[in-house]
Amino acid sequence: MTGLLFRGVEVDGSFADVLAIGGRIERVERGAPSMRPTGDIEIVEGDGGALLPGLHDHHIHLAALAAAAGSVFVGPPHVSSTQHLIDVLTSADRKLTAGEWIRATGYHESVAGPLDRHLLDRIVPGRPVRVQDRSGKRWTLNSEALRRIGPRVGADEGADLESGVFDRADELLRDAIGAEFPDLTEVSRRLTACGVTGVTDCTPYDDPSGPDHLAAAVVRDEISQEVVVTGGANLTEHRFDPVLRQGPVKLVLDDDRLPDLDEFVDSIRRAHRADRPVAIHIVTAASLAFALAAWDLAGVRPGDRIEHGSIIVPGAVARIVELGLAVVTQPGFVAERGDHYLGDVDRDEIASLYRCGSLFKLGVPIAGSSDAPYTDPDPWKGIAAAVVRRTQSCRVIGRGERLSPAEALGLYLRDPIDLGRLRRVEAGAVADLCLLSRPLSADGLPCRSDVRATFRAGVRI
Ligand SMILES: [Zn+2]
Repeated sequence: MTGLLFRGVEVDGSFADVLAIGGRIERVERGAPSMRPTGDIEIVEGDGGALLPGLHDHHIHLAALAAAAGSVFVGPPHVSSTQHLIDVLTSADRKLTAGEWIRATGYHESVAGPLDRHLLDRIVPGRPVRVQDRSGKRWTLNSEALRRIGPRVGADEGADLESGVFDRADELLRDAIGAEFPDLTEVSRRLTACGVTGVTDCTPYDDPSGPDHLAAAVVRDEISQEVVVTGGANLTEHRFDPVLRQGPVKLVLDDDRLPDLDEFVDSIRRAHRADRPVAIHIVTAASLAFALAAWDLAGVRPGDRIEHGSIIVPGAVARIVELGLAVVTQPGFVAERGDHYLGDVDRDEIASLYRCGSLFKLGVPIAGSSDAPYTDPDPWKGIAAAVVRRTQSCRVIGRGERLSPAEALGLYLRDPIDLGRLRRVEAGAVADLCLLSRPLSADGLPCRSDVRATFRAGVRI
C-alpha cells in the first residue's frame, strides 16, 4: 500500500513524524522520532511546519461561489453610490456580446436605495440583467430579463413581477434562465490552496438536480474536497449520491415571512424521523426566538444547529446551552461588513453579533465557515477575524467574543457532522491534512500563503 511519511512536523505543539498509509494515519511518533518505514512511501520533509487536520468550511455555497467568478460585483465597499453602480453595469454591458446576461452580486440598499426593474432599465435597457442582493436572498431583474423568462415564470410565491424582485427563487430563476451548473474546478483549487479538505454545502436545494450536479463534479474530479450536502426541506427524505456525504437538512427562516409555527415544527420532526439533524438559517433575534420555540416543541436531535446566529441576544444564549444546540458562525462578516453593522444594527444588539467567545466558554459547539460567496472563502481570514474581530475601519465588535488563535483554528477543525468533536492528527484518523510552512507556535497568525500542501485521504491535492 502507498503511504506518506511526514518527517519533522509540529503536531499539537510537539515535534513528530507522522505516517499515513492507505488514506489513514497509521502512526504519530513524538519526541525524537526515527521512523524507517519500508515499501512505497513518499517522504515529506516538514522542516518543523505544523501538520493539521485539513480545514473544513462548515457552510458554503459551491455553485454560487463558482458563478460569482463570472459576475459583476455591485456592493460595498467597492461600489457605494448610484453613479458607481451605473459605471460598473454600463462597463459590463459594453464588454458582453449582444443578448448575453449580466449577472451582478453583492447589492446593498446603501448603494442606490431599494432596487427594482425600473432603475435597472434606466441603466441597462437592452440586455437582460439580474442583480443579487448581498444577503443572497433576493434577485432583481430588469424588464428585458423578465421578458426572456416571462412565459415560464408565473406569479410564483416570492416573485413580484411589477418590481422585478424575486425572493428565495434561485432554482426557479436558474431553470427559467437555463443557466448551466458552473464548473467547480477553480473553486476547488482556491480551497485547496487554503488547506481546505472538506466543505458543507448549505444551499437549501429543493430539487435533486443541484446535489446531482455536485455529485457529478465529484465524480469528474472537478472538486477534490469532501462534500457534505444539506439540501432543503423538500429533500429531507432524498438519498444523495453516495459520493456526497449527507448532512443536516437546511431549513430557512426569513424574518419578513416566518412560516406557521406548527408547520415549521413538523419540518424539524420530519428531518429527525429521517434520521437527520436540522441546520436552521437564523439571522435576527426574532427568527432565533421563533426557532427556539419550534425546537422546544419538536425536540432537539444531536447535530441540530443554528446557521449564522448573527444576533444571539443574552436571553437566548442560555436556551441554546440548555437545548444542546451547535452554532455555525461566520467571523468574516464581522471583518467584511462590521462597519455597516455598526451603522445598521440596534445599539443594544451590537454586542450580540456573531458571538464566539461567550458561546465557547459555555461549551456550545461552534464551527467556522465562510458562507462564500457572501464572505471570502479563505478560512485563514475567518480565523484572523475571530481572533481580532476588527472591521475594515479598524473598530472592534464584541471584544469579549474574541477567541484565542488555537480556538479560532479549531472552528475549522470540527467534525462536519458531530460539531462537538475536534478532529486531530492521530492514529486512525483519515489522512485529510494541511501542512504549513511554519509552526503554529511561531508569532502571528498563519495565513493562506503559509499553506505548503494539502492532502485528501493521504493523497496530495
Ligand atoms: Zn448560506
